[in-house]
Amino acid sequence: MAKKQFKTESKKLLDMMINSIYTHKEIFLRELISNASDAIDKLYFRSLTDGSVEVARDSYEIRLIADKQARTLEVRDNGCGMTREELEQNLGTIAKSGSLDFKKGEAADEPAEKVDIIGQFGVGFYSAFMVSDHITVTSRAFGSDEAWKWESSGVDGYTVEKAEREGFGTSVLLHLRPDAEEENYSEFLEDYRLKGLIRKYSDYIRYPIRMTVERSRRKEGSSDDAPEYEQYFEDETLNRMIPIWKRDRSEVTDEEYANFYKEKYHDYEDPLRVIRQKAEGVYEYTALMFIPANAPYNYYTRDYEKGLQLYSSGVMIMDKCAELLPDYFSFVKGLVDSADLSLNISRETLQQTHQLKAIAKAVEKKIASELADMLASDREKYRIFFKAFGTQLKYGLYADYGMHRDVLKDLVLFESSASEEPTTLKEYVSRMREDQKKIYFAAGESRSQAELLPQAEAVVKKGCEVLYLTEEVDEFALMMLHEYEGKEFSNVSTDELDLGTEEEKETVKKENENNKDMLSFIKDAIGEGVSDVRFTNTLSGHPVSIATEGALSATMEKTLERMPGTENAGVKAEKVLQINMEHPVAEKLKSLYGEDKEKLAKYSKVLYAAARLISGLGVEDPSGLGELITGLMLD
Ligand code: ADP
Repeated sequence: MAKKQFKTESKKLLDMMINSIYTHKEIFLRELISNASDAIDKLYFRSLTDGSVEVARDSYEIRLIADKQARTLEVRDNGCGMTREELEQNLGTIAKSGSLDFKKGEAADEPAEKVDIIGQFGVGFYSAFMVSDHITVTSRAFGSDEAWKWESSGVDGYTVEKAEREGFGTSVLLHLRPDAEEENYSEFLEDYRLKGLIRKYSDYIRYPIRMTVERSRRKEGSSDDAPEYEQYFEDETLNRMIPIWKRDRSEVTDEEYANFYKEKYHDYEDPLRVIRQKAEGVYEYTALMFIPANAPYNYYTRDYEKGLQLYSSGVMIMDKCAELLPDYFSFVKGLVDSADLSLNISRETLQQTHQLKAIAKAVEKKIASELADMLASDREKYRIFFKAFGTQLKYGLYADYGMHRDVLKDLVLFESSASEEPTTLKEYVSRMREDQKKIYFAAGESRSQAELLPQAEAVVKKGCEVLYLTEEVDEFALMMLHEYEGKEFSNVSTDELDLGTEEEKETVKKENENNKDMLSFIKDAIGEGVSDVRFTNTLSGHPVSIATEGALSATMEKTLERMPGTENAGVKAEKVLQINMEHPVAEKLKSLYGEDKEKLAKYSKVLYAAARLISGLGVEDPSGLGELITGLMLD
């Protein structure tokens, strides 16, 4: 019979599996058991909602059959089974497109053995090739009288042919690879090893995982002096079958939670935090949630689907219930189990249920309080969390006109002049100088760029802390927040810094008035780029800088310009050229105004370009500037 080829992506993946770079080959069993359990779930769910499906709840089982002679391990279930088409579709291809590209890109700089491709892609079935050189899947779909057999030895393809099978369900028969120097595959035929693996990874599976085990007992009638023993076989259920979220919190180890999380939610790292919630009262439910340590590769794209799994008394009724999570907590994985939910709940009715809304509200509160606790008790961990998902929280601050500020304002971190460690707003306020009225921030593409802004330096010199906003969303988030504990935010690059004494302010004012004509001349020489030119004393040692006025800052202007579709919207920040009145350049300008206006015009342009560079804005016309400078050199 002609072999069918795997789809190209599947082929690559199989190749990786076979030459496995994964160190924990044992997880293949958890993947197969999980598939079997899902298949039973599907049928059980149908039996609950469709009267024509009559299968007794207690007849469901998953069975392990190890045959040492044949060197095979079989995982057999009596779940929904697969039709011929389903066999081909599900096992002949891996639908999750894009995952392999990701693999190539991401793994390049990671040591190979660290990458758990299985976990990353949720390609459970294929992991069986790590331990087998030949796999036979025999399946009969519920309600069908035909069985089909799928067989493959790996990359060279697979065959599907008609087969016999008593009853519905699926058998996955693995022919184990020969033992090699460093790899012992025979151990997967040993009772103790299989039992251990089930306990470790699949204890919570809701259907019995059974195995026939050999035992010995004293022969009846044998004498006490010369006891005789006989072997006999007995069925043993290997798992405790209590969903992990139904077990007592104190009874479940961290490792068990981590294993559950990794298997269910396809992650390769332990979660940063496990969140358990048991709600009693009007709505009763149990929630088990996890905060991942890493953002999934597609997290900040439109492909990412948020949601918690929804269970009704242990039966999963929806895989990703988006209504249960607000966008800003979309990174949370986990489930909610409530006996009060109807099995027939559909997406449309779901949106309307009060109950779900109430649960969502409580879940949100719980997540927020757990994050707050992590922030207070384990800063190191929180930093890891924030690195992965902080941007999402900041978007949350900004979203919906700042509606969620109360939930989020104490969970966000910003870079700050106070320390290398990012800070919360609360911490900033607690460190504020007594006479300080505002929360200062400086925006730049990096911390060092923001630090070097003349105005930022000046504020720091005055003994005030400055937040360095380095992410595009930062400034938008603060703008939406408007104030924190009654303190307004102040962009150090916007005009009024209000740092000096009344006397100092008066001097600056006078200096501007006395040189009004000259400043206006400079403004005209520069042209459209600036809305005003002013003397100031808040630039530390720097000669010039750009400040902005009005609602839009220079960095926000840059962000908006980069947004697709807004290139020509013409949103511009109003820029003011600030000249340090204490810098020698001020004197130079004044004397030129009296002696050589033509030169002053050229110098003005150069100063403006320098100010843009200092403020991280870049020059608008580099070649024009080049000519101007060389021209001045030749003067
Ligand atoms: P995943 O479980 O992540 O979807 P797998 O490669 O493990 O990926 O399985 C692919 C699909 O094959 C499953 O989604 C399921 O539809 C089907 N499948 C696997 N094992 C079984 C089984 N024992 N019974 C019925 N269907 C199965």
